[in-house]
Amino acid sequence: MRRRSKQREVILNLLKRTKSHPSAEWVYTEVRKEIPNISLGTVYRNIKLLQSMGEVSEISCEGDECRFDGNTILHYHITCQRCGKIMDLDGIVLQSLEERVAAATGFKITNHCVGFKGVCPDCLEQSSPERYKYKVRLY
Ligand SMILES: [Zn+2]
Ligand SMILES: [Zn+2]
Repeated sequence: MRRRSKQREVILNLLKRTKSHPSAEWVYTEVRKEIPNISLGTVYRNIKLLQSMGEVSEISCEGDECRFDGNTILHYHITCQRCGKIMDLDGIVLQSLEERVAAATGFKITNHCVGFKGVCPDCLEQSSPERYKYKVRLY
């Protein structure tokens, strides 16, 4: 029992520390630096348990693989379609959306998820010859 909660603590700390919205595989790789003999299945079970405890949330906006977030305060995400990075959109939450959906459907809304897709500034910069020329001129 004690060992189990130690594993869970290490996993939770990792998820709270990173802003990269990692996959279970990433967590597994990182956890093994501290607990070398842990299995991927154990990592996955612990993440799911943390999720049911409300300590971790799963990002499931039609993504291909499950990604996890140690930040459980309602917030939206934006995903870069070129490099795959997922960023938080801080300070943008449509509270009135839940009320409108509740009114329209009769559901008691417990959560909602909004995901944006696009190309991040880093990727845009890499692919824009104009920006590149400008930069070169500056140097
Ligand atoms: Zn990108
Ligand atoms: Zn997030």
